[in-house]
Amino acid sequence: MNNKITRLAKGAMLKAMPGHITCDEFEDFIAEYFEGELSAVQRQTFDVHLKICEDCRAYLKAYRNTIALGRSAFTRGDAPVPEDMPDDLVAAILAARANEV
Ligand SMILES: [Zn+2]
Repeated sequence: MNNKITRLAKGAMLKAMPGHITCDEFEDFIAEYFEGELSAVQRQTFDVHLKICEDCRAYLKAYRNTIALGRSAFTRGDAPVPEDMPDDLVAAILAARANEV
């Protein structure tokens, strides 16, 4: 089945339910979620979404792995960024590192 259509259908369904976010919204705020910058209410909304959405559980897991990988790669200095790392994740890692300094 077309993944994009499944995702749109799921988004429409989630939007109709109060207190739920869509996968797109989840992805938009994943950096804040990961850094613990969400309010308690937002975080709860995220946790509910994670419980019902296998896709986002996988996405969060991949995100966490990539951040961990990215941090260790960057702390080794000139280690190359993995080729399959999406640009937005590289940007997120760089932003996270900038905040740490
Ligand atoms: Zn989702």
